[in-house]
Amino acid sequence: MTAYPVIATDLAAAIGHTPLLRLRQASEQTGCEILAKLESANPGGSIKDRTALGLLLDAERRGALRPGGTIVEGTAGNTGIGLALIGASRGYRTIITMPQTQSREKIDALRVTGAEVRLVPAVPYANPDHYAHQARRLAEAMNAADPGSAWFADQFDNTANRDFHEATTGVEIWEQTGGRVDGFVCATGTGGTLAGVGRALKLLKPMVTIALADPAGSALASYINTGELKAEGGSISEGIGSSRVTANFAGAPVDLAWSIPDTESVPWVHALMHDEGINAGGSSGVNVAGAVRLARALGPGHTIVTVIADAGTRYQAKLFNPGFLRDKGLPVPEWLERAFPG
Ligand code: PMP
Repeated sequence: MTAYPVIATDLAAAIGHTPLLRLRQASEQTGCEILAKLESANPGGSIKDRTALGLLLDAERRGALRPGGTIVEGTAGNTGIGLALIGASRGYRTIITMPQTQSREKIDALRVTGAEVRLVPAVPYANPDHYAHQARRLAEAMNAADPGSAWFADQFDNTANRDFHEATTGVEIWEQTGGRVDGFVCATGTGGTLAGVGRALKLLKPMVTIALADPAGSALASYINTGELKAEGGSISEGIGSSRVTANFAGAPVDLAWSIPDTESVPWVHALMHDEGINAGGSSGVNVAGAVRLARALGPGHTIVTVIADAGTRYQAKLFNPGFLRDKGLPVPEWLERAFPG
């Protein structure tokens, strides 16, 4: 097993080594062992702490970020929270550009880190005002004025993201299952998690099945299945789905892919919370729905791993709001109706 340090001497040492938790209902329904890495247990509350740390360690190694310099990144929120917290622990400032459509809870979580948060309109990647392009241009302008003062983390196309998942998340899954993992499935935003874990596990066990659980509105399931980037519908999930093939996702060893509607994923968010005490966000609902589909594809008796990427309470006003759910045509469990009447 990966050794836990007795004392983590800095925040970086507290990232990763997350529990691998058995999901009881998903396992019972399918006859498989369905297990989830509890990534919400990271210091910043999400799997993106790993991405942030992997990108930052690579930048430090390459000398791309000088001591006391400024981290600049475009993010749906979680990567920004990770970068800001790790940045604070290592003496860097952080500036984040973020689409204004992201949850209030996530924007606030980022603001309380002391990071400078610039909310920008949510526009497609092809638009020069997309949050990632704005972050890149900001870092370029800062470096033009003061060379070496800023570093653009570039989580989508900097493959240090994927490499860190290969070296940590993937290896931890292998060790925690004692090599018994038969399949891994998750949704992707940058592609770092799926590509990194996929590469690690395929090297260790070529027969392993790697699957993509894609939210409705994303073009990647179609890309894997037909070669064409085509999206239909939409999703209330945040941080996942893509209209393009990022450098991190390119070449990921993906065997199966499904487009998963919110009507299938959101009930998992509620069931995990109410019946198993697992506080899971919308992308984790997509992941668990994908794990059930992978279990049905492989048949009973297999061990399938996925990820609880962050906590549902990071999206409380959406995922646990009966009025919001009804407006979106999503089912509202009776216990949630009672908790928030009217
Ligand atoms: N779930 C959540 C909640 C996220 O914030 C992200 C990253 N944006 C993902 C899943 C996707 O992870 P990755 O970027 O590694 O594909």
